[in-house]
Amino acid sequence: MKNVILIAPPAAGKGTQSKLLSEKYNLIHISTGDLLRSASQKNDEMGTLIKGLIDNGSLVSDEIVIDLLKDALDGLNSGYILDGFPRTVNQAEKYLEMLSELNIPLGDVIFIDIPKDVIKKRIIGRLVCPSCGAVYNNLIEENKPSKEGICDECASALIKRQDDNEETFDKRYETYVKETYPLVDFFKSKGVLSTISGNLTKEETFDRLQQIIGNK
Ligand code: AMP
Repeated sequence: MKNVILIAPPAAGKGTQSKLLSEKYNLIHISTGDLLRSASQKNDEMGTLIKGLIDNGSLVSDEIVIDLLKDALDGLNSGYILDGFPRTVNQAEKYLEMLSELNIPLGDVIFIDIPKDVIKKRIIGRLVCPSCGAVYNNLIEENKPSKEGICDECASALIKRQDDNEETFDKRYETYVKETYPLVDFFKSKGVLSTISGNLTKEETFDRLQQIIGNK
């Protein structure tokens, strides 16, 4: 059973790469952002709370995220890829405890390091498919959908995420630097971190990821 954790700044391509990796290695793709977006659509107090936090670029509390993750992992007996989790050192510590109780190996932890100005450009044009999770970009020629506004893979209408605007991005990036970036040292000190850095294309990033995952 192979598990993969991707750590990266917002809009670095975690979702796209997770989708490619899940197809290539037959891994279940677990995105805590997707789990939370779906919880935020419920018309209850919890849904409203989660929506407010996502829309202003803040993190949802560790307790809520860990509960959702536990549900997603419950009964799973194949490898998985975690996209967007852990996002704080506390989440990583809780997750490691969970793995050791369940006797599940940590797997590969990979940090995708991309400069802020590059991802900011990507975020402004990003479009996502709400049905299959495919990601496109209106401003990057090779990432445009073949038919404007329509998913190439499942023909659903593409949408713009509400938190994909400049103001929320700046807040999300600030949160990333403060809360998530310390995970790099956390996993480095445990000797389990691999890093991919630079302004790479989707294909180049996927090649590097396969080199890391395929070698283990
Ligand atoms: P993402 O789709 O990974 O960019 O996540 C979108 C938003 O969901 C983030 O900006 C956070 O508000 C929230 N979120 C996703 N994953 C986590 C997590 N592990 N911990 C806390 N908040 C999260």
